[in-house]
Amino acid sequence: MNNEQKTVFLKCKKCGHGHFAVSREEAQRQVDEFNQYFDSLTKEDQEKNYGGNKSSIDSYEKCFRCSAKYTESEECKEEDIPLGVTIQPLIHE
Ligand SMILES: [Zn+2]
Repeated sequence: MNNEQKTVFLKCKKCGHGHFAVSREEAQRQVDEFNQYFDSLTKEDQEKNYGGNKSSIDSYEKCFRCSAKYTESEECKEEDIPLGVTIQPLIHE
């Protein structure tokens, strides 16, 4: 990861929810990393901490709030995203 890289912010055109952009490669890497960790847990912990759900690239492909596809989001300025809102990663190509 290159921390010098500027974060690109995205806004869902449908509901206005903010996200930050990740490449598909980066999203896949995070999914793989999480799933590797997930597999190392006991079934009980998988259920308790994550509802028994593995990570999937699908969640990086849609708006966290309204599930619109990532192609429905547009680049925006950081100031356009309301303060105090947790933003999720979204694929941006
Ligand atoms: Zn949305």
